Amino acid sequence: MAEFDVDLFVIGGGSGGVRAARIAATHGAKVAVAEEYRMGGTCVIRGCVPKKLFVIGSHIRHEIEDAEGFGWSIPQVSFDWKTLVANKDKEIARLEGIYTTNVERVGATVLKTRAVIEDPHTLRLANGKKVTARYILIATGGAPNHGPDIPGIEHVISSNEAFHLETLPKRIVIQGGGYIALEFAGIFAGFGSDVTVIYRGDNILRGFDEDVRTHVRAEMEKQGITILTGCTVSRIEKHGAEFTSHLSNGSSIASDQVMFAIGRHPAVANLGLENAGVAINPRNGGIAVDGWSKTSVENIYAIGDVTHRFNLTPVAIREGHAFADTVFGKRPIQVDHATIPTAVFSQPEVGTVGLTETEARAQFSRVDIYKTDFRPIKATMSGRDTRILMKLVVDGTTDRVLGCHIVGDAAAEIIQAVAIAVKMKATKADFDATFALHPTAAEELVTMRTPTARHVREAAAE
Ligand SMILES: Cc1cc2nc3c(=O)[nH]c(=O)nc-3n(C[C@H](O)[C@H](O)[C@H](O)COP(=O)(O)OP(=O)(O)OC[C@H]3O[C@@H](n4cnc5c(N)ncnc54)[C@H](O)[C@@H]3O)c2cc1C
Repeated sequence: MAEFDVDLFVIGGGSGGVRAARIAATHGAKVAVAEEYRMGGTCVIRGCVPKKLFVIGSHIRHEIEDAEGFGWSIPQVSFDWKTLVANKDKEIARLEGIYTTNVERVGATVLKTRAVIEDPHTLRLANGKKVTARYILIATGGAPNHGPDIPGIEHVISSNEAFHLETLPKRIVIQGGGYIALEFAGIFAGFGSDVTVIYRGDNILRGFDEDVRTHVRAEMEKQGITILTGCTVSRIEKHGAEFTSHLSNGSSIASDQVMFAIGRHPAVANLGLENAGVAINPRNGGIAVDGWSKTSVENIYAIGDVTHRFNLTPVAIREGHAFADTVFGKRPIQVDHATIPTAVFSQPEVGTVGLTETEARAQFSRVDIYKTDFRPIKATMSGRDTRILMKLVVDGTTDRVLGCHIVGDAAAEIIQAVAIAVKMKATKADFDATFALHPTAAEELVTMRTPTARHVREAAAE
């Protein structure tokens, strides 16, 4: 009789858990995956995918507005929120099915239940049943964090609920300045809501390149989104169907919904971590892991958002894959977390890879900046008041491109390709040697000849 029920028990059927389960099973391991909500996890069910569908839907408004300059006349448009939500739900259910099938097809078992750790080799399911495992993988992801318990916090929705609202709010207050807050601001504004963004810092998109932050804010404001910085929501009152958000600066705003997107915390609560001695990383509240995603317990690993390293789907997937290859495939591999491209599907969209100007100047003694902002060709006929930003951050000593930052339509698509060059340590000369593809916006990346700024640190200057 086998020593354990399974070789691998994965807690969480999200991006990372599913990848790990599938790869481990193809390496011959006996695998079980427990999922307490819906297979596919945050990304598929209430993250990247439904969000992108909403972004695409809301952006159609821009296309309709831009059409007139090109000769189209569209006499009357109307939008039905319920149709959008229903069609999105249909697509998400289809994907959920695919995620389940893909796991089962390789011989792994899907258990639709919550699982908690009882001891280093035992899991307890919601029905009380116990399963023993040689290895445990914690891939429980994260959840929205509403911050301090202010009066009226029970009226606040998160991105989870935003995907299932009965009606489109005419007015919405969104607290947060990160990518989720701004993406939903663009979504609701596109569908016709009056949107106010509240952010406690001095500008949105903390951690992004300063020029990106300024550019995105200006573009969103041009579209009529109100962005209030340097304040927070301190109290919310409900009067009938209306909410009043009282702000720390003394003002107040009436709306039909109040959404917070101020951060997410790793899903570590009530998991039984203490039963096995799995340590938490005191710096970020996630599960502490080493470069192999191994926790403080020899046979327990953790990947994805629950480790709170880089909370992105492709990172969780790669960590899950590397774990399975290392432990079950005799192919030890550590994930290289350097140079992860990211996007903000705000409107306009942001694509970014590598170092910001500020980071580069802190790390390198000579930094050259190549920056341009220009009117996209479409706007010349549509009349839309919008500009694209493109910026390259270059090591002035080695000529290596350290970072690329784009704000504008298709920025995410462009940055995915640029990320290959940046990861390969391409130089500015490599960019210059590449033929432009005309007429595109992206051709600016290979035609910027003269630095717009050169930063030389004192010590290196003589
Ligand atoms: C609104 C939003 C938009 C996003 N957009 C993007 C984007 O555009 N691009 C991008 O790369 N990333 C995006 N993300 C982040 C991305 O969704 C996550 O990084 C990714 O899903 C992490 O995968 P994971 O496997 O670590 O966890 P998850 O996908 O969160 O999966 C964890 C799963 O574990 C389950 N679970 C938890 N505890 C238990 C338990 N005890 N027993 C059984 N099951 C359990 C949960 O139900 C969940 O299904 C977005 C996130 C949100 C919220």
